[in-house]
Amino acid sequence: MKYFITGGAGFIGSHLVDKLSDIGAVTVYDNLSSGKKEFIQHHLGKNGFHLIQANLLDLDSLKQAIKGSDVVVHLAANPDARRGIENTRLDLELETIATFNVLEAMRVNGIKRILFASSGTIYGETPIVPLSEDHGPALPISLYGAGKLASEGLISAFCGTFDFQTWIFRFANIVGDRATHGVILDFIEKLKCNPTELEILGDGTQSKPYLHVGDCVEGIVFGFQHSNKKINVFNLGCPSQTSVSTIAEMLVEEAGLKEVLLRYTGGTRGWPGDVPQVKFNVGKMSKLGWKASRTSDEAVRKAIREILKERFIYNGKPVPPSGSA
Ligand code: NAD
Repeated sequence: MKYFITGGAGFIGSHLVDKLSDIGAVTVYDNLSSGKKEFIQHHLGKNGFHLIQANLLDLDSLKQAIKGSDVVVHLAANPDARRGIENTRLDLELETIATFNVLEAMRVNGIKRILFASSGTIYGETPIVPLSEDHGPALPISLYGAGKLASEGLISAFCGTFDFQTWIFRFANIVGDRATHGVILDFIEKLKCNPTELEILGDGTQSKPYLHVGDCVEGIVFGFQHSNKKINVFNLGCPSQTSVSTIAEMLVEEAGLKEVLLRYTGGTRGWPGDVPQVKFNVGKMSKLGWKASRTSDEAVRKAIREILKERFIYNGKPVPPSGSA
């Protein structure tokens, strides 16, 4: 099987490349805007592995690069929902138009199967109940969520019109090593600047399900291999949540820091467009036979340890990247 992975040099993408390289040939298409070559360095030069450094907005390049692929995994996107507040075209281009380009490049090359990284943000602000895949209407409150929902709509339309088949995964918050963004990384950067005080956006009660990236890629592959409808949509997460305050406390503890003042900016949400309370119903993946191997808290703690180790300050002491902790 020949896999074509957009965003394969990114956080989740590079972990997926590690997994899919064991079972097939992999081409990564990535402009390295937030991804890093070093995440996939160990695959460069291997038989069947190709890196194409290019932009999804360059449709001609994409049409050439995608030729001969069997399955497309579309992960490339604007990774940070907050960026849409400053740049309102970003999600339109990096989600909606980029996804259209991927679909169009597939269509002209006769490729019909696409896996897509969507997000729980498509559901918007809802009553706080565990959201299942058939919750509707989906009314996102961020431009990022709107871009994901528009992408899902385009994919569905290509399934209906051009006989495509899709596996859409609505991710929870994904955490782990090689993270390129997210709350843990934000907190670490802040503590590096000032290890005595940590600014927390909102009142810290915002709670979401966190899934370790290892579970995320296992779930993607499991969902793909065990479902075969024309349109397969799954929430990919866990049933528990972790609050932002808990993440801050875990990080302070794991970094071995003492007497850190947690300073809250106040309000119930971190930024405009952020959904403060998220619960996922993951029954559909469970029914299929897959569930996350860790609770949300366990995933966060593991990710904190991994990221601290990567960033050389595990337990307050410098740790070499290859050291074990
Ligand atoms: P990431 O930024 O680490 O990965 C995205 C990759 O896409 C990067 O390697 C980047 O260089 C590449 N890219 C971006 N724009 C591109 C373009 N125009 N052309 C070519 N390459 C481009 O982010 P991630 O966390 O690994 O996210 C992967 C996917 O999962 C994204 O679609 C994201 O929206 C989705 N997602 C992530 C999370 C999460 O918590 N990390 C949650 C929900 C959904």
